[in-house]
Amino acid sequence: MEIQFSEIKERKEVILNEDDLDFGKVFADYMLEMDYDMVKGWHDVRIVEHHPLSLDPQCMVLDYAQEIFEGLKAYRCDDQSINLFRIDLNAKRFCNSAIRMAIPPLEEETFVECVKAYVDKVRDWVPQRFGNTLYLRPFIIATDNGLGVRASRTFKFMIIASPSAAYFKTGLDPVDIFVEEKDIRSAPGLTGFAKCGGNYAISLKAGTWAKHNGYSQVLWLDGIEHKYVEEVGSMNIFFMIDHELYTAACTGTVLPGVTRQSILDICEEKGIRVHVGKLAISDIMKAGKEGRLNEVFGCGTAAVISPVGKLTYEGDSVIINQHKTGDFSKELYTALTSIQWGKIPDPYGWTTKV
Ligand SMILES: *Cc1c(COP(=O)(O)O)cnc(C)c1O
Repeated sequence: MEIQFSEIKERKEVILNEDDLDFGKVFADYMLEMDYDMVKGWHDVRIVEHHPLSLDPQCMVLDYAQEIFEGLKAYRCDDQSINLFRIDLNAKRFCNSAIRMAIPPLEEETFVECVKAYVDKVRDWVPQRFGNTLYLRPFIIATDNGLGVRASRTFKFMIIASPSAAYFKTGLDPVDIFVEEKDIRSAPGLTGFAKCGGNYAISLKAGTWAKHNGYSQVLWLDGIEHKYVEEVGSMNIFFMIDHELYTAACTGTVLPGVTRQSILDICEEKGIRVHVGKLAISDIMKAGKEGRLNEVFGCGTAAVISPVGKLTYEGDSVIINQHKTGDFSKELYTALTSIQWGKIPDPYGWTTKV
């Protein structure tokens, strides 16, 4: 695959003020683009200056939401090399998301090659400080024009990048979570396993309500019985009850997180048993009342580990671990970030150098 490169004329020197970094507010000066049509397939990969798109108002993605995305990070190591983490899993998930949304999937190797070539061009934008990263956002949108409802025949793949601060500036701060009782984000046969914008659009109403009421995110229950825990806004979630771990299975309704999978793999290697399957919210609240709910934590690429300090369900709340970060959450955070930043040798072969 040949990747064209249009160098920015008189490119400014990249100077990152790492004290002021936020999440997804500042963008690298380059982006990657590739087009799809029925004749040429995916073609014409290029790295060009980050620029606004010109779309017709009748562009299909705008009304019918045929689009998918990914989220991963580039990590700066002490020797100035750059790590990517389990990019094969992002490539595979991007492919599965594409198929679900009737988008022609990118070959997994193509995805990996594009990300690597792109990160190499924007390597100056990868922050230096431990915890800070260059957040990468690959995505595909439908680009046919017209109001007739059908799958688009043309698409655009893009990657943009944003130097971002560690999610929690003061370390791992526990968050408060509201358990949503009415709205659902997923059900069997729907798109829960795909990373697509629609999943987020339908979650915003509950998420906004939760934020206005002092909660950081919503915990979603299963779409059929409204009984079993599935995941948090943009994270998977684990519960430790009586010192045993639980998380929902990825059987179509839950997003198969790279962080979730890595936690399961670390637990397996350490001989820690995890119950992967159904866990009722009523059992969690009961365990909380009885002092048996040891730890709860969300996990995802952005936050890595996000401890939960309080859960509210049907007007009732439980405080978890005195609203403090649990030892296991800390241990996992250290285990994951040490590999990601190359602080320790990678025992699993999860990292790729750029
Ligand atoms: C991206 C995402 C996650 C976390 O996946 P990671 O690969 O660990 O970042 C969890 N849930 C949802 C809904 C997501 O979109």
